Amino acid sequence: NVVTRFAPSPTGYLHIGGARTALFNWLYAKRHGGKMLLRIEDTDRSRSTDEAVEALMDGLSWLGMDWDGEPISQHANAERHREVAQQMVKDGTAYYCYSTAEEVNAMREKARAEGRPPRYDGTWRDRDASQAPEGVSPAIRLKAPLEGDTIVQDEVQGTVKFANKEMDDLVLLRSDGNPTYMLAVVVDDHDMNVTHIVRGDDHLTNAARQTLIYKALNWDVPVMAHIPLIYGPDGAKLSKRHGAIGAEAYRAMGYLPSAMRNYLARLGWSHGDDEIFSTEQMIEWFGFDAIGKSPSRFDFKKLENLNAHYMRSESDEELLGHFLTYLTEIEGGADVMAWIAGDGNQDKLLAALPGLKERAKTLIELQESARYLWVQRPLDLDAKAEKILSEEARTVLGKVLPALEALDAWTVESTEETVKAVAEEAELKLGKVAQPLRAALTGRGTSPGIFDVLVVLGKDESCARIRDHAA
Ligand code: GLU
Repeated sequence: NVVTRFAPSPTGYLHIGGARTALFNWLYAKRHGGKMLLRIEDTDRSRSTDEAVEALMDGLSWLGMDWDGEPISQHANAERHREVAQQMVKDGTAYYCYSTAEEVNAMREKARAEGRPPRYDGTWRDRDASQAPEGVSPAIRLKAPLEGDTIVQDEVQGTVKFANKEMDDLVLLRSDGNPTYMLAVVVDDHDMNVTHIVRGDDHLTNAARQTLIYKALNWDVPVMAHIPLIYGPDGAKLSKRHGAIGAEAYRAMGYLPSAMRNYLARLGWSHGDDEIFSTEQMIEWFGFDAIGKSPSRFDFKKLENLNAHYMRSESDEELLGHFLTYLTEIEGGADVMAWIAGDGNQDKLLAALPGLKERAKTLIELQESARYLWVQRPLDLDAKAEKILSEEARTVLGKVLPALEALDAWTVESTEETVKAVAEEAELKLGKVAQPLRAALTGRGTSPGIFDVLVVLGKDESCARIRDHAA
């Protein structure tokens, strides 16, 4: 029975690389009818605030990933970690180490000076505890094999060999009684019955050390899959200087969770030449064999194109839901939300959405082009609209206005017919009439289709806006 886990440290946000790790864990678990557990690696108490944990869960939920059971706190298991370390001393697979920090540093320096890898020299490895100095509380170290190799059999990296003589007798329990990260991960994964560990390949050397601990405890080593990290467009490991790295930042940039999920799935994993997957397809097709060995580069253009695709393919109601979530995330979003809450306005927005979503690549662009819905008369004009509304253009508006006012049926067809007739009558190209209309109705030089705009705004509001600028 497959059990995976996502084990983030609370950093205050869900890192986009972490989101992809979570997604792979989630897909693998779903693929095999298993479970994905969430473990918060909160041993660094100063960073482990409730908000930081909330941010992780919030990011996962936004991306549509759920986890099984309650989130597990690593910190809460510290007592269990201590017990295991003590038991290992009893079993002879670990030992008390009374070397002080200064002594350990000196050993490392010495090794370095002699051109050996810096490591603990094993002073207390076979020494009797009766020789323990007084007043020094000991750390517990793993009695690691001195010879041979440790093999990590990795689903992505293949067979990776680590020479044991290169590895330290690593600390399991610090002298202050705190378990180390290395021990905590092994004990938690074991206790959680984790069968598959999927995480970034920056943990590959940890995997070797953790394998030593598993062996010492005589526990089964879970299947491991270490996935290549995500790089920025410049080929350096994705970090803050590349811009947004938290999931919530992508939400605020107006990306849809469906697009994000699809994009992240394709970041390091492939299924032939397919680029667009439904969640069901991802689950059906996901496997470790199609995860590449080289790092993938984050490509904003590709994400944007995917987002445009998902914006077009979502139903208006779904898209509206995402737009509302997005508005809660951004500055000034409350004003738009207040407008939407007004009488009949949500229906207006819904009526406008088909036209809006055709051109918008992100919800930011959607918001920008929907702006004409909630701006108040007299409209402020952008530079382009200002330029369009010349003396001559205002005269044209003066001709269109009465024709539109005379209309009974207010539809895309009837308004289009009327505007065309006015253009013909005045011997003008349609654009010469449509552009001033656009500027007057939206205050912008570009907008959704002008007849859609007329219909969505309704006759009264449209005519009033035109009147504001007609000569
Ligand atoms: N907490 C680790 C991280 O954030 C993950 C450790 C693991 O998956 O074993 O990178």
